[in-house]
Amino acid sequence: MGPIIGITCGHEAKNGRDRYYVNAVNIRAVTEAGGVPLLIPNAYDDRKLAAVLDVVDAVYLPGGVDVDPYLYGEEPVVGLGEFDPEWDAIDVVAARLALERDIPVLGICRGMQVLNVAGGGTLYQDIPSQVRGALKHAQRGPRWAASHAVEIVSNSRLAGILGTTELRVNSFHHQSVKDAAPGFQITGAAPDGVVEAIESTTHRFALGVQWHPELMVEREPMYQALFASLIEAAVTVKEARRPQAG
Ligand code: MN
Repeated sequence: MGPIIGITCGHEAKNGRDRYYVNAVNIRAVTEAGGVPLLIPNAYDDRKLAAVLDVVDAVYLPGGVDVDPYLYGEEPVVGLGEFDPEWDAIDVVAARLALERDIPVLGICRGMQVLNVAGGGTLYQDIPSQVRGALKHAQRGPRWAASHAVEIVSNSRLAGILGTTELRVNSFHHQSVKDAAPGFQITGAAPDGVVEAIESTTHRFALGVQWHPELMVEREPMYQALFASLIEAAVTVKEARRPQAG
C-alpha cells in the first residue's frame, strides 16, 4: 500500500448546509500518484488533529477561501473575501503540526498561503487593491487553462521536480504570499512579482504553489511529477515510521 496522504477538508456552512468537503481533483491527483488519501475534517480540536498527524505520511493542503488575516497579525482590508475560522482551524493547525514534525506537506493555492502563515509568514489580503500593477490573477477562462507566466528559481526543488523554469499557469486567487515564512524561499513569481511558489529550505518537503496543477495535470503531464514528489517524500516517512520486520 502507498503512503497515507492526509488531505485537509474545506468547510462550508451556508444555505442551510454544513459540510466538510474536498474537490475530487485533489483526491485523484493523490491517488494517481500512488498515495492513499485520508480526509481530515477535524476542527477546533488540536489534540485530535495531532492524533491524525500520527498516522499520515504527508499532508496535502487544497485550495479554498481566504485565510483570516488575524492569523498573521493583520486587520481585514476592504478587499478581503470570504474566510472561515473553522476551515483555518483544520488546515493551518495541520500545516503547523506537519512543519513541527517534518512531515512532507504540499500546499495548493490557499494551501500555499496556509503553509506560509503556519510557518510564520504573511499574505496580501487582496492583490487588486494591494499590489500595484498586478496582472489578473482571478482568471475567467476554463479551470485547466493557463493564463499567466511564472518564472521558477533555477536551483530550487520545484525547478528540479518540474524540469523547467518557465511555466504558464492557471490562476484563481486574489491573495498571495507577502513575506515568506522564516526558512522558506520564494521559488516562483509571476511577471508582476506576485509570489507563485514557495519552499522550505530546512524541511524534508514543504512546498507550495499558487496555481492549480491538479486542474492542469490531465493536459500538462509534467505536473504528475509534482504529486509524485510528495508521495516519494511521504514514502520516506512511512518507511521510517513502520519498518518492515525481518
Ligand atoms: Mn496567479
